[in-house]
Amino acid sequence: MSKVLLLLTGGTISMVQDSRTGALRPADERTFRNSVPELNDVDVDIIAFAPLLDSSDVNPECWAKMATIVYDHYDAYDGFVIAHGTDTMSYSASALSFMLENLQKPVVFTGSQIPVGVLRSDAKENLLTAIEIAGAKDEEGESIVPEVTIYFEDRLFRGNRTTKRNAEHFSAFNSYNYPPLAKAGVHITYQPHLVHYSDPKMPLVLHVECDTNVALIKLFPGITEPVVRSVLATPGLRGVALETFGSGNAPTAEWLTRLLADAVQRGIVIVSKTQCSTGSVEMGRYETSVGLMQAGVLSGYDITTEALVTKLMYLFGECGDDTEKVKTLLQQNLCGEMTLD
Ligand code: ASP
Repeated sequence: MSKVLLLLTGGTISMVQDSRTGALRPADERTFRNSVPELNDVDVDIIAFAPLLDSSDVNPECWAKMATIVYDHYDAYDGFVIAHGTDTMSYSASALSFMLENLQKPVVFTGSQIPVGVLRSDAKENLLTAIEIAGAKDEEGESIVPEVTIYFEDRLFRGNRTTKRNAEHFSAFNSYNYPPLAKAGVHITYQPHLVHYSDPKMPLVLHVECDTNVALIKLFPGITEPVVRSVLATPGLRGVALETFGSGNAPTAEWLTRLLADAVQRGIVIVSKTQCSTGSVEMGRYETSVGLMQAGVLSGYDITTEALVTKLMYLFGECGDDTEKVKTLLQQNLCGEMTLD
């Protein structure tokens, strides 16, 4: 039987209903175990964040804590499950995909839309399947999906390709630009040809430094010069994720191109990613993206906003003042986060 470490960070999945007041509150480890008695039938140890967090409060220090726990327990377990709130799960999964370089074991994020302690909850289902996936091995005894993933409802996705798409339905996540790595029905059907494998000769490397001097600008018709200027004038700003229209287009207003070019000249790294859920930036396809190219804005291809923001933080944390290295690595597919052609 595979041995799995379950890291409880918080979110709806770790909540129970108070029998007296009816209010939802975070469960402690014992109450959580009692809510999922099936955990006694699998080889799972639990580490719980204290306090458990709503994922709106998860930040880069929390990512570092999660990644460090995986790193410190790496040899003792076959796989890892991280129970996490759904709201920012895609950011955390993206961040950990960069922080755990050369990962050879599964790290499966999961959560739920209804608390574990409520009768109709999706928590048990999600958790138990995530645990099975984290421990799943092929005939050679190798992990089937040695990546950072999100398992939710009946799909396993590469974590850095996901976006939370639904606050109501059980299928809360989607991966618009990359197919699921597995589907769970009566059987779990894996798609090994879609899995990103790290070089087995390389050891796991932990990166915990993140530089949060990044900004996200979403373009919209009518966006004004003072708004863009003030964001780009933010003291210490190093990187910008620029959400552009369609295949990477922007208003052709002279002031916008000038402000972006000036920011690039000052060493700020700007990356264009499309506001569309599906598809990729194609710089130069329309005249309305030529100005961005000339200003020195980079293409984010088909990356998600979550993966781009966390990749910028990770690269600035890792590369320090070497902006050219950051730019080079932004144009590379580091762990399956984007498709280059
Ligand atoms: N607000 C909760 C969280 O993200 C929602 C959830 O877990 O689904 O922590």
